[in-house]
Amino acid sequence: MQHSYFDHNATSAVAPEVLQTLAGSMAEVYGNASSIHHFGQVAKQRLEAARREVAAMLGCEAREVVFTSGGTEADNLALFGVMRRIGGGHLVTSSMEHPAVLNACGQLEREGFEVTYVAPDESGVVSAAAVRRAVRTDTALISVMHANNETGVLQPLAGIAAVARECGAVFHTDAVQTAGRIPVNVRELGADLLSLSGHKFGAPKGIGALYVRKGVELRPLLYGGRHERERRAGTENVPGAVALGRAAGLGALWGGIATLRDRLEQGILARVPAAHVNGAGAERMPNTSNIRFDGIEGEAMVISLDLRGFAVSSGSACSSGAVEPSHVLLAMGLSPEDARSSVRFSLGPGNTAEQVDGLIEAVAGSVTHLRRISTSFVKGTVNV
Ligand code: PLP
Repeated sequence: MQHSYFDHNATSAVAPEVLQTLAGSMAEVYGNASSIHHFGQVAKQRLEAARREVAAMLGCEAREVVFTSGGTEADNLALFGVMRRIGGGHLVTSSMEHPAVLNACGQLEREGFEVTYVAPDESGVVSAAAVRRAVRTDTALISVMHANNETGVLQPLAGIAAVARECGAVFHTDAVQTAGRIPVNVRELGADLLSLSGHKFGAPKGIGALYVRKGVELRPLLYGGRHERERRAGTENVPGAVALGRAAGLGALWGGIATLRDRLEQGILARVPAAHVNGAGAERMPNTSNIRFDGIEGEAMVISLDLRGFAVSSGSACSSGAVEPSHVLLAMGLSPEDARSSVRFSLGPGNTAEQVDGLIEAVAGSVTHLRRISTSFVKGTVNV
């Protein structure tokens, strides 16, 4: 059976162009970028060239890019870095952030910091007005993601950045779902700190970056050598950085994705009754569609589609044996039942119109099958 991948928001394949660069760099560039001999200097040059490539993608200066092990570390460095340096105060974030931000906030609360979690509206947008209502005189940091990983809903960052400027807070955004896929310019977004992750846009797992605007001071997470201008200790992952730099120039690979996503979404809505797009009213990432199917368990859909050769995901998390509904969909006001009936389709380079058409068929078949055996979907109680 052919397997088709529609889970690019979880991770994406290493792009062939990147793989070639990565293999060359792993084979040839093995010096430590801190060494003063020839091998070290070659590594250093490659590292700095990669930094310039990432900076060009973000519209910033190379020295403002700190390489990290991925998105989680970049988010942690941003949040702990700002709050622990100040040593007290208040942080504003949203209740639909990725766990890399939410669980870092939980730890900050345990350390005595105060956090306000702003809820999105029913279309999944955190408005600048809602953020403004949450700020206090001691707000030191505002962190709101660029696009949500489950719904793809894009956030009005320029307005939120303006609120941060008004109240003198640092503004961080988790751009893990957008950087490398759609244009992301830190100056236009008004970000002081921005996280990105290589494995979401064609680089391997284990490399990411945090943009740190010149003048923003961070307390490091790791103590060791004086790497990355003393913002991130540890021998640099030069091949990873080189791969990230190469992937940063491949945004065009994501160019035609919107057409495929729209074909998928319209095809499903036309074929399947009682299906609804979560976040439909908002501006969304061109590759993401989150759809709820009345009367169906999202987890059952994921398994059913996998058996038919299609990899998708549900935002639900399995904890202590029970399926927990997505915190993102709950934050948007969905009932636990509706949240549990949602499935995320996320497209990327390599997906084709034929795969999309096959997926539409598979979704229609799975829904019919699952509704036939579903106890909650009794004809007449759900409006088809
Ligand atoms: N933030 C968002 C929005 C994400 O989607 C992810 C990964 O799924 C992360 C952070 C974590 O990134 P990484 O897997 O590189 O640690």
